[in-house]
Amino acid sequence: MSNYYQILGVSKDATPGEIKRAYRKLAHKYHPDKKGGEEAKFKEINAAYQILSDPQKKSQYDQFGKTGFDSGGFQQGFDPRQGFQGANFDFGDFNFGSFGDIFESMFGGERTGARRSYQPQRGSDLEINLKINFKEAVFGIIKKIRIQKQILCEHCSGSGTEPNTKLKTCPKCQGQGTIRNARRTLFGHFIQETVCDQCRGEGKIPERPCKKCREKGWVKDNQLIEIKIPAGVENGATLRLSGAGNAGEKGTKPGDLFVNIAVEQDLVFRRKGRDIYSKLPITFSQAALGSTVETNTVKG
Ligand SMILES: [Zn+2]
Ligand SMILES: [Zn+2]
Repeated sequence: MSNYYQILGVSKDATPGEIKRAYRKLAHKYHPDKKGGEEAKFKEINAAYQILSDPQKKSQYDQFGKTGFDSGGFQQGFDPRQGFQGANFDFGDFNFGSFGDIFESMFGGERTGARRSYQPQRGSDLEINLKINFKEAVFGIIKKIRIQKQILCEHCSGSGTEPNTKLKTCPKCQGQGTIRNARRTLFGHFIQETVCDQCRGEGKIPERPCKKCREKGWVKDNQLIEIKIPAGVENGATLRLSGAGNAGEKGTKPGDLFVNIAVEQDLVFRRKGRDIYSKLPITFSQAALGSTVETNTVKG
């Protein structure tokens, strides 16, 4: 099998620009949608470019050469946990977690297997549109609106556990919080640890989950929200109300609420930056001869 430099037809000391140009030319030529395109070749070119265009992967490839990459897995996204079929190395038992960093730096891959602790999800952000009139925008106003969102479950105070009941040891992981799987790979046996999905890594589950929120720690409800709109707000501005978004899982930090302000056009007044213009009907003679007239300001 030819190496990635040969596939792109560049030398080992090609500059990133040269690599890019070579890739574009070949990708253009072999693109499967084109007449005379070759899908296999196109994939090969892309796989080569994926490595050589990334300085980190390129240096790993230069360093480790064919040992890892050419064995075929990389184009499909190499998963170190899958290992190489039929490979028969055995370096004894390694804990995958402690070895994970090496995999990460070698393959730049995602460490799906080594997640140790489960972080409850922070609440998501919400976004609403709010229309206000011209005077409200000029002077500022407090608007109260109802929005449907996740709010903290009052029944369990967000804990997800029915009040006055205990926690029990998670039956799935026996309280470990993780589930261990042994796998044989090119580099030996690995103990792969995944976070227990039943207790989410906590090792304990409620004896009786909160009957209102069913362990989530939040419920859906309408909430009246007070939005303080500052004086001089501009059309199209977005206000951020920190913590006014959806409640998080099990009492974690809520998301934010983003309020997009639309200012209705006024029949008389118009705003340009910090100035306010107003329309004032005058007669022809007033215009021709000049005259002093009275007009309302936005204050009346
Ligand atoms: Zn568990
Ligand atoms: Zn609850």
